[in-house]
Amino acid sequence: MNSNIETKCIHEGWKPSQGEPRQLPIYQSTTFKYDTSDAMGKLFDLEAEGYFYTRLQNPTNDAVAAKICAMEGGVGAMLTSSGQAANFFALFNICEAGDHFIASSSIYGGTYNLFGVTMKKMGIECTFVDQELPEEELAKYFRPNTKAVFGETITNPTVSVFDFEKFAKLAHDHGVPLIVDNTFATPVNCRPFEWGADIVTHSTTKYMDGHAVCVGGCIVDSGNFDWMAHAEKFPGLTTPDESYHGITYAERFGKAAYITKATVQLMRDLGSIQSPQNAFYLNLGLESLHLRMERHCQNALAVAKFLEAQEKVAWVRYADLESDPYHDRAKKYLPKGTCGVLAFGIKGGREKSIKFMDSLKFASIVTHVADAKTCLLHPASHTHRQMTEEQLAEAGVASDLIRLSVGIENVEDLIADLRQALDRI
Ligand SMILES: *Cc1c(COP(=O)(O)O)cnc(C)c1O
Repeated sequence: MNSNIETKCIHEGWKPSQGEPRQLPIYQSTTFKYDTSDAMGKLFDLEAEGYFYTRLQNPTNDAVAAKICAMEGGVGAMLTSSGQAANFFALFNICEAGDHFIASSSIYGGTYNLFGVTMKKMGIECTFVDQELPEEELAKYFRPNTKAVFGETITNPTVSVFDFEKFAKLAHDHGVPLIVDNTFATPVNCRPFEWGADIVTHSTTKYMDGHAVCVGGCIVDSGNFDWMAHAEKFPGLTTPDESYHGITYAERFGKAAYITKATVQLMRDLGSIQSPQNAFYLNLGLESLHLRMERHCQNALAVAKFLEAQEKVAWVRYADLESDPYHDRAKKYLPKGTCGVLAFGIKGGREKSIKFMDSLKFASIVTHVADAKTCLLHPASHTHRQMTEEQLAEAGVASDLIRLSVGIENVEDLIADLRQALDRI
């Protein structure tokens, strides 16, 4: 039965039959038993479906992946040990040494490093682009060996809103998929597949978990990209895989080719699984995600309006504010609200910003973001510390930028805390 996102948060994934546990069981087992040697052999040939080893698949993880898949509207999903693993696998599944892809320069610092430094060592080159460039300018960055385009629905930490339609058209005109990291928006506020994205990734560590208990990630496949139509670009999906008895994923698995390959080949070989225990916690987080996102957005908008009215605040960026340059785009792609994260600067720059942060009582200084508890960080001193001034400017991270992740506490208490800290500078 078709259901709305709130119902999916509760009911998708684990669907017990008569007499089974109501809540998702934790299958805390590395392996699964078979009665005959032949029954097990069929699994290895991918001729029969079943569990055999948790590095490849586990029932707890699969139930949670199925829930996220349903929330995003995809055909298949896979949990990973972290958001970093999700983004790496999402690209490595279709890129190999000698290939190239295009990513927005405004993405999360960890992903920027992964793409610009670590993947480069593997022979995969990434060109970072200013995501606000017009389509004709962006088109110039495509090469014959370009295999994908990557962006974030809401960029971390600059909270800019991604122009899905522009990038989906560009990617598809060049015969490559659009991969979108939907971590900050979550499928409650935005479903990138509805706007042309082909693959979605998540750091489930953030709002999905929501309580700062488990690092995790997820990849969701829309099933919409036609790999066979661009067969020469994606040999990993459209020619036989020697490591799987010559299976051609796009022929054998059709719409689920991409996610099947990511599971049976990349997860098998690289083994960045999420533990079933963590998947269980993630599922608990997902059950209240819709409620929390609504409150995060309400609180963040009230906080953004408060900050905007303060003499000591130099600027505020939050796309749900009418004054924000991304407001119209946010209304289009995220009509229910963006997320609880906003960015702002304090007059007097770095030094005053640090004094302000150190004076807060509820809001804690942590690397984490997108969580029930209000927290904040100064990217130039923390997450983006390894970047040069030039790279910071390219990523749009001002040296006075404070990333504030507004939690679900009482908003009057939060504003009182911000007010007293502002009074101290
Ligand atoms: C945190 C984050 C990541 C990395 O996820 P981890 O779970 O920390 O590995 C990737 N993308 C975005 C947008 C993030 O906020």
